[in-house]
Amino acid sequence: MHEFMSTRNNMEKVSASLAVLKGLADDGGLFMLNDFSKIQVDLNQIVNMDYHALAKYILGLLLDDYHEAEISQCVEKAYCKFDCEEVTPLVSVGEDYVLELFHGPTSAFKDVALSILPYLVTTALKKNKCDDEIIILTATSGDTGKAALEGFKDVDGCQIFVFFPDKGVSAVQKAQMITQQGKNVHVAAIKGNFDDAQNSVKTIFNNREYDIFMKEHKMQFSSANSINIGRLTPQVVYYFKAYADLVNQKTIKNGDLVNFVVPTGNFGNILAGYFAKMMGLPIAKLVCASNENNVLTEFMHTGCYNRNRVFKKTNSPSMDILISSNLERLLYLLSECNSEEVNQYMTNLKETGKYQICNEMLSKLHNEFYAGFATNEETQKMIHDVYQSTHYLMDTHTAVAYKVCDDFKQAKVNSYPNIILSTASPYKFTQSVYESLFGHCELNEFVLMKELSNKTNTPIPEGLKNLDQLTILHDTVIEKELIADYLFKKLGE
Ligand SMILES: *Cc1c(COP(=O)(O)O)cnc(C)c1O
Repeated sequence: MHEFMSTRNNMEKVSASLAVLKGLADDGGLFMLNDFSKIQVDLNQIVNMDYHALAKYILGLLLDDYHEAEISQCVEKAYCKFDCEEVTPLVSVGEDYVLELFHGPTSAFKDVALSILPYLVTTALKKNKCDDEIIILTATSGDTGKAALEGFKDVDGCQIFVFFPDKGVSAVQKAQMITQQGKNVHVAAIKGNFDDAQNSVKTIFNNREYDIFMKEHKMQFSSANSINIGRLTPQVVYYFKAYADLVNQKTIKNGDLVNFVVPTGNFGNILAGYFAKMMGLPIAKLVCASNENNVLTEFMHTGCYNRNRVFKKTNSPSMDILISSNLERLLYLLSECNSEEVNQYMTNLKETGKYQICNEMLSKLHNEFYAGFATNEETQKMIHDVYQSTHYLMDTHTAVAYKVCDDFKQAKVNSYPNIILSTASPYKFTQSVYESLFGHCELNEFVLMKELSNKTNTPIPEGLKNLDQLTILHDTVIEKELIADYLFKKLGE
C-alpha cells in the first residue's frame, strides 16, 4: 500500500484515505507520494476506456487503500453531473487541441476534482471508522469556492466554509457563491486577496491551540483546496484521456510525445500533469502559463521564487496568486524527497518571501517544464484573434495558455502536438470576453451574457443562467484577520 508523506517530514506517513481526510499534514507540509515507479499506467489499456472506466483505473492506482467498489461508486456519482458524456472533450482549434475541462456543474475545471472529493471524503470517514464531523475550509480565488460548495452541500457529516476575496472575483463567480443553498454551507467575503485567504486557512490548520476545541466538539478540519491530495488525483485522469483521444483519432501513435499547456495559479492542475508523466504518459513538456502575476515564469527561468512584488488584479482572476502552494510538492519530487531541503525553502519563503533552488534542481525543472506569461492586453487580443480565425470562443484563463502556447511554438522547443487545457467557460468571465470581442460595454454582466450568446451563437451554461435572479443568502464581509473568529463563532453555534 502507498504511503503518503509530508513534504516537510518523511516520518509523517498516512494512507491515501487518511491523506484525503486530513488535507494537510500536521507539520504544515503537503501529503505526497515519493515513488511513482510502482504506479505505471498501461497505455495500451487506456485507449478503449471511456472517462468513467479511465477514472476508476487511475484513481484505483493512486488511492490504493480504497476498494475497487468504493472508487467505482465515487466515480459514478461524480461524473453523471457533467453536461456531456465525454466529461472532458478534446476539440481541435487551428493546429492545436483544446481540452475542455469546464463541463461540470459550475463551469470551471475545479468541478472535475470537486465533484468527486466529497465522496472520497465520506468514504474515507467510513473506512477509517471516524465519526468526527468534517469541517472543510476553503480559500478561493473564485472557482474552487463554488465548485466545493456544489460538491459538499448537504453532504452528511460535513460542513463547508468558503472564503473569497471581496473585490477579487468576477460578478458571475460572486453571484454563484453568495446564492449557494444548502444547510451545511458558510460563505464569507474577506477584505484581502486570495493569498490572504489561503494563508489564514493554512494558519488555522496548523494552530495546535484549536485542537482541543475541535476534539471536544468531535470535529476535524479538512481542505477542498488543491493542497488536499484528493483534489489532485482526479485531475490526473484527463491528461490520460486527452492522450487516448489523440491516439484514437489517429493524430498520434501510442507512445508518441505530446505537450500540455496549462493556465496556472496554485500549481495544482499542472502538477497533476506531472503525476501523469511519472505514471508513464509520454509528455515532452508541461508548459506553465501565467498571467501578469508571473512569479512562476520567473521561477522557472531563474530558480528564484520571489513573492515580494505587487499583487495584480487581472482579467484571469482565478490565477491571481503569488504563493503557489503545490510547487512545494514539485520541489519535494525534484529534490528526491529531501524533506529537509523543502522545509528550508518553505521557511525562507515564510520569513523573507523568497527562496532560490540549487542549479541541479533548476536543470531538472528546465527539462520538464517551459514557462511564459500573458498580459491583460495579450489575453484579450488572443480571445479576439482566435475567435476571428476559428470561431472558437474561449475564456480569459484559456487565452493566457493559448498565448503562451504561441510563444512556446515560436521558441521551437519541439514540434509535438500541443494540448491546451481550457479551465473555464467563457461565460464565467463574460465581461472580459465580451470586451475582447466587441469593445467596452457598460451593460451589467448578466445582460452581457445574453448579448454574448446572441452575437457568437454559443449557449450559456445552464448553471449560469438566471444567477442574478436568485436570492442572496450570504452577505458576510470580514476583515482578513478575523477569519478564525468568524469560523469558531459559527462552529460554536
Ligand atoms: C483554479 C483555476 C486555474 C489555476 O489552476 P491551479 O490548479 O490553481 O494552477 C486556472 N483557471 C481557472 C479558470 C481556475 O479556476
